[in-house]
Amino acid sequence: MSKQTKVFKVTPNNLSKIIRECAEIIQRGGTVAIPTETVYGLAANALDPIAVNRIFHAKGRPADNPLIVHVASIEQLEQLVSEIPPKALSLIEIFWPGPLTLILKRTRIVPDITTGGLNTVAVRMPADIIAQELIRSSGKPLAAPSANISGRPSPTTAFHVLHDLEGKIDAVIDAGNTCIGVESTVIDMSGEKPAVLRPGYISATQIEEVIGEVEIGYSDHVTETEGVVRSPGMKYTHYSPSATVLLLEGSHDLVLDKIREMYADFTCRGARVGLLVTSSDLFSLTNDMVYLGRKDEPEEVARNLFLGLRSLDERGVNIILADGSFTHEGVGAAVMNRLRKASEMIIKV
Ligand code: AMP
Ligand code: MG
Repeated sequence: MSKQTKVFKVTPNNLSKIIRECAEIIQRGGTVAIPTETVYGLAANALDPIAVNRIFHAKGRPADNPLIVHVASIEQLEQLVSEIPPKALSLIEIFWPGPLTLILKRTRIVPDITTGGLNTVAVRMPADIIAQELIRSSGKPLAAPSANISGRPSPTTAFHVLHDLEGKIDAVIDAGNTCIGVESTVIDMSGEKPAVLRPGYISATQIEEVIGEVEIGYSDHVTETEGVVRSPGMKYTHYSPSATVLLLEGSHDLVLDKIREMYADFTCRGARVGLLVTSSDLFSLTNDMVYLGRKDEPEEVARNLFLGLRSLDERGVNIILADGSFTHEGVGAAVMNRLRKASEMIIKV
């Protein structure tokens, strides 16, 4: 059944009132979409199975894909996990609050539905003040996956949230664009060797500077693995707009040439083609174009990626040609991971 989704638009003087109202919704077992520094999250009380079920239901998220639990203090973390290994503590000291999610062994207080039945739980402390205040004010750790329909590009504005979830959630706090634009880095600290399960804003190199060598436990491709998957979310198609995304990888100049050639080819066969590019050289080709940012500035590209995919979709393009020739250093690795997962085909030029 459809419900009325309240939209709370943040202004300089209404934040505490909004937080109070949203904390009440959380305490009653409701769902509130909130800004975080990465993307908008759909939050509910992580310790209330009925509330958490509302997240899965609204997103259409598969039940075996566990949620990240957001905390505002170390005391709150200690209730959720049975141990904090020394290396995990070092990461917390350096990177929290911030876009780093740790997988740790859970306590029994965390319901099965939140962890997809696993004996571990994913936890992070968001840097966003609104997210922190809502956790404090409600007094609950918040399960909060991205606030989109499962499989669609993650939302970086409240408009994206409403596009996917209006009528399915209780409220959204509209605080403008998120700063980072891609999801947190996920690192498994529950086993013998730390392993990065999802690339994000914080790179594996930055992590290694703090705790030494880490395994890379993810692939950029959707893996149809049988049996146990280390991070259940990795096996699903992700971040996809309705249009077919073709990703072009290779040196910058060759990629631009290939985009021109493919654009002409598809257009002449009647397709409406959108471009997602990192070069102003292509601006004259079409208006169905989103500039991701400079190819050497992966942080710019990260901020614009999901916005770009959604905006081309809304214009009704059939095909998106995506320029994959930006630097893959730092957050560039996370951007590449998301683009590859959103793509129907990767074309190496
Ligand atoms: P999202 O909340 O949509 O940003 O996705 C959270 C990601 O963390 C997904 O890829 C999950 O599979 C992964 N994740 C959450 N909890 C665990 C866990 N306990 N063990 C391994 N991966 C997890
Ligand atoms: Mg997600």
